Amino acid sequence: MTFTFLGTGTSQGVPIIGCPCEVCQSTDKKDKRLRVSGLLKIGDKALVIDCGPDFRQQMLREEVTDIDAILITHEHNDHIIGLDDVRPINFLHEKDMPVYADERVQEELKIRFSYIFAENKYPGAPRVSLQTIKAGEKFQIGNIEILPIEVMHGNLPILGFRIEQFAYLTDVKTISDLEIEKLQNLDVVVLSALHHKEHHSHSTLAQAIELAKRINSKRTYFIHFSHHFGLHEELETTLPPSMSLAYDGLAIEI
Ligand SMILES: [Zn+2]
Ligand SMILES: [Zn+2]
Ligand SMILES: [Zn+2]
Repeated sequence: MTFTFLGTGTSQGVPIIGCPCEVCQSTDKKDKRLRVSGLLKIGDKALVIDCGPDFRQQMLREEVTDIDAILITHEHNDHIIGLDDVRPINFLHEKDMPVYADERVQEELKIRFSYIFAENKYPGAPRVSLQTIKAGEKFQIGNIEILPIEVMHGNLPILGFRIEQFAYLTDVKTISDLEIEKLQNLDVVVLSALHHKEHHSHSTLAQAIELAKRINSKRTYFIHFSHHFGLHEELETTLPPSMSLAYDGLAIEI
């Protein structure tokens, strides 16, 4: 399987509009971060994890013309608000887009996108078919088996996903020992880290490194950085050898 980092930035993206800081002003391409999302290609299937405000740009950049499903980690805007842009895929392939989310997230999608789920939809509205998933209950897309993992985003329980020896965990503050057990024997884990100062719902880089040690995957890639994180080039050299900072467009084989 191949995983492509579609975006690696926090909710405002990097650079932030109007910010004069050295990260936002950096000319290094690796310091340009769209909102977090990833594309997993496995067998003949293409799955996208989260569908934020940069979804359209990410599909265009990676020349994606079709996806089989979207998996949603949680209902925050930077993870769902691009859903309207599934329309070209609806039109091109004459199909509904399967969107996998837990019940709480689905309720929020119905509020935020009431026109998508209206009884009498206007012609041309996005076509989404909601699929219910739940932490701890495996589900299948084709013959791909996916295990939703519960991680804590501050007080909010949200989902991460394990697929074979790969796991994607974003917006993490803490993970229970029980869930860490389900993350053993990984080749690659993608894990979020916001910046260096304590935050109520995101782990700092130091906390994320501790989480990564508990998960003990062969490799760890960090995502969801704010502009306070520092320059990619400088920070990357400070990490333990099995850990890296992801950047937009990076593709890895698992
Ligand atoms: Zn900045
Ligand atoms: Zn969030
Ligand atoms: Zn987020």
